[in-house]
Amino acid sequence: MSEPFRTCVVCRAKRPKAELIRVIRSPEGTVCVDTRQKSNGRGAYICRDADCIAQAYKRKALVRHLKTEIPDEIYTALEGYVNEQT
Ligand SMILES: [Zn+2]
Repeated sequence: MSEPFRTCVVCRAKRPKAELIRVIRSPEGTVCVDTRQKSNGRGAYICRDADCIAQAYKRKALVRHLKTEIPDEIYTALEGYVNEQT
């Protein structure tokens, strides 16, 4: 069975889902990093990569994709996942 691929909202690279970090906006409007990739809501995938996260911040890729403001804590949390292996 092949792994599902998802596209990074920043660099448009297609990668196996497990290699990307998922950020979701819940139906209540809360933005969080979905580490278990199981939550409901609108999701955006981003590479586990410091450059992609920095670009997401600068270009507001997540803001545009999720159509909501992204709190700074989310970027901090994403950076925390960069060096972490699953
Ligand atoms: Zn990327």
